[in-house]
Amino acid sequence: MSASPPSSAWLQWLKRPFLTVFSLQGFQRRREFDGDRFEQVMVNNRRVAYRYVLMAIAVMLAPIDAHNFYAGHYIPAFAGLFLLALFLFNIVLLARDREPFLSPPTVLLMTLFLVLLSLAYGLSYNLYWIYPLLVALPVLLKTRVSVWLGILVGVVVTPFVFMRFDSSTAIIVCMSMVHTWLISAWLMFAVSEQSRRLSELAITDPLTGAFNRRHLQREARKAFKIWRSEGRPATLLLLDVDYFKDVNDSLGHDAGDRVLCSIVDIICDRTRQKDAVFRYGGEEFVALLLETGEADAIQVAEDIRTAVLAADVAPTLETTVSIGVCDVTQAKSIDHWLSQCDRALYQAKAEGRNRVVIATPGAVQGRHV
Ligand code: GH3
Ligand code: MG
Ligand code: MG
Repeated sequence: MSASPPSSAWLQWLKRPFLTVFSLQGFQRRREFDGDRFEQVMVNNRRVAYRYVLMAIAVMLAPIDAHNFYAGHYIPAFAGLFLLALFLFNIVLLARDREPFLSPPTVLLMTLFLVLLSLAYGLSYNLYWIYPLLVALPVLLKTRVSVWLGILVGVVVTPFVFMRFDSSTAIIVCMSMVHTWLISAWLMFAVSEQSRRLSELAITDPLTGAFNRRHLQREARKAFKIWRSEGRPATLLLLDVDYFKDVNDSLGHDAGDRVLCSIVDIICDRTRQKDAVFRYGGEEFVALLLETGEADAIQVAEDIRTAVLAADVAPTLETTVSIGVCDVTQAKSIDHWLSQCDRALYQAKAEGRNRVVIATPGAVQGRHV
């Protein structure tokens, strides 16, 4: 027999899917990334949240649509019927763990129907201005503020609706306002959630979850500009796994992949939230340490090097890394900054690997055996 969860757990259970869809907090940090599990949790939460929102909208839409047919308002009635069918179709898809049917033409079609519905409601109840506003709010603001503004509009307008109409009509008008706004908010959040995921995918390495090289260019440029304009330091660590080909050759490619993921985890564990970790190439990674000068960066690099050595990331094979370190003060440009790291890394390899080498102007200086 399973014990029922405490009330706060129920609350969390109810809140979680909504928080997933209604949160626009920007990109997930690499350190929070847990590969497939993270992806699965995100997808499941989004599906459950979509289903709840669609069910809520459908429940509100159905009586209003029936009323429109009854009252002979056929344009909004048929528009509502179309939306209802689309929502029910999506609810069924989501209940079967399938992706919702939200292609760009569908979004466009729904938006058109929504505008038609809003205008028709507005004309029939002489409240034209409210509906376009409710539709426009989430689309224009694209933030959580639009949720609160929509609620505010509803709260302010409701007494006037009740003053103007008899109470049963007023209830229908208020419900129609809520669902107009909900549909618009849902469309906006669904579309922005999709584009957020796409932007995230565009800067993420699919194997390790580290940021990719394209994103490194952007972030390094930012750090370089901040150094030039405000004098705030930053340091790049370029890390290469030693004799990684041997790992693949003796343990197989899949084991090699797992080693790469473990190394990224180690780098992430040893850097801060504001730093970023990138996959530079096959078995090469970059850590961008913000607000960090050379001395502190050497500590971090040493920490990563010894942690990889101690971690036994590849069973039966001792795995080590070589690291080139270059702080922004040595760099004339972004490319120069990276090439200085590369030179330092090359020297670390030449000196026997499993070491940290610091780039200095003109030459590079070894620090560790
Ligand atoms: P060194 O110490 O000089 O760096 O030696 P190395 O063997 O690490 O260097 P090399 O560049 O010769 O080999 C890198 C290997 O990394 C070759 C390539 O097959 C492997 N590799 C690159 N990308 C991946 C990947 O995504 N997964 C796996 N498993 N292996 C990869
Ligand atoms: Mg390499
Ligand atoms: Mg290597």
